[in-house]
Amino acid sequence: MKKILGEFKQFALKGNVLDLAVGVIIGAAFQGIVKSLVDDIISPVIGLFAKKDFSSLVLTVFDVNIRYGAFITAVINFLIMVLLIFLLVKAINKLSNIGKKQPQVTEKEVTTKECPFCYTEISVKASRCPNCTSILDNQSFK
Ligand SMILES: [Zn+2]
Repeated sequence: MKKILGEFKQFALKGNVLDLAVGVIIGAAFQGIVKSLVDDIISPVIGLFAKKDFSSLVLTVFDVNIRYGAFITAVINFLIMVLLIFLLVKAINKLSNIGKKQPQVTEKEVTTKECPFCYTEISVKASRCPNCTSILDNQSFK
């Protein structure tokens, strides 16, 4: 029992589980906004053309009520939700790419230099070339 608890703790404290929980909470909050947008703004506008409350449109076939208005509302909800998530993911990817690219460039410039005697790439800190054993006076060569 203690072992299972330990494993569960390890699982729950992993970063991606926390990320997932945050994602679910943000998703739920988003859904509320999207539902309100569709129910309170988009549906009444479409309802103007249908001359009826859009989400209450019902088709009766053989005494069975088919609430296609509510179904179309759900589809519109879903499409707006997917679009919002797509835009959000795109924005996050763009931001994380900006963070990744810049350090790589500066790192390359700082860590290596060219030996002035044999022209191989060596550490910028080297006072003696590991390839041709020439003594370097530790100025920055280009
Ligand atoms: Zn050298």
